[in-house]
Amino acid sequence: MANDLHTEGYSNPLTNPGAANAAIASVLNATQAMQVAKPEIPLPAGGNFTLPGGYVSAGDYTNVRYDAEVRELTGADEETITKARNAGLGKFISTLLQCGTVSVGDSKADAALLSALLLGDRDMLLLEIRRATYGDEVVWDRFSCPFCAEEFRLSITLDEIPIRRLTDPTERVFEVPLRRGRKAFVRLPVGADQDAILAIAERTNESEQNTVLLSRCIVSVVEADGDENAVTGNVEFARSLGIVDRKSILDAIEEKQPGPQYNDIKFTHDACGKEVPLFISAGDLFQGL
Ligand SMILES: [Zn+2]
Repeated sequence: MANDLHTEGYSNPLTNPGAANAAIASVLNATQAMQVAKPEIPLPAGGNFTLPGGYVSAGDYTNVRYDAEVRELTGADEETITKARNAGLGKFISTLLQCGTVSVGDSKADAALLSALLLGDRDMLLLEIRRATYGDEVVWDRFSCPFCAEEFRLSITLDEIPIRRLTDPTERVFEVPLRRGRKAFVRLPVGADQDAILAIAERTNESEQNTVLLSRCIVSVVEADGDENAVTGNVEFARSLGIVDRKSILDAIEEKQPGPQYNDIKFTHDACGKEVPLFISAGDLFQGL
């Protein structure tokens, strides 16, 4: 009968207590090890990339940082961002950037750093956070062609969005010729300007928002006789500018801002042969939020 038992490796505790105790201890250790082992939580996916404008700290153009890192948004971020969305578009974008941006250069990405970044760099961060979180493909399940009205599934990859780069970091301040021999020195808007405008977006019209933007971004005006006056923060001055001069400055800001050109994407619709312009918003990039 004893021969029917499978006894290989078996230690009878009565006849060989040492071996049995060692075997029991080894099982207990293994069990304890299993109990203390935490479930493995993978770190969110991330990415390193180059900013199209560059981060200039305290006006020091000798140390412009172009390297940035973002990471995948997690469930905890989603909760924070969804809450922020109720407080308006500005809060939504700034919260999204704070959740997903890890660092710029050697600096941790905090609110102050993000407010100092050019709008184009912030747009680039959004694009890369989107890539880390949802991947490269942006899909519209039912896109309607504006020419032939056919509805179809449209998908583009993020790499199809053209990126404009600032070739010289000092180009963030530039000259705009105005009428009657005057000229203005203007700086490219940064995150703080965007926050200020989005904060009043719901109770102001576009012209009023432009006045705020111009009052923040026009550094000085040089009169025809060479006399230069600082005008930053002067809302009354921005209002007193001629309509044509205001438009010249706004156009120059638009034209020089680096970053993803979300309004500059075109594709050919096979069914009608027309070239269709595509406008992408932050909402399109983060359809799930
Ligand atoms: Zn079409």
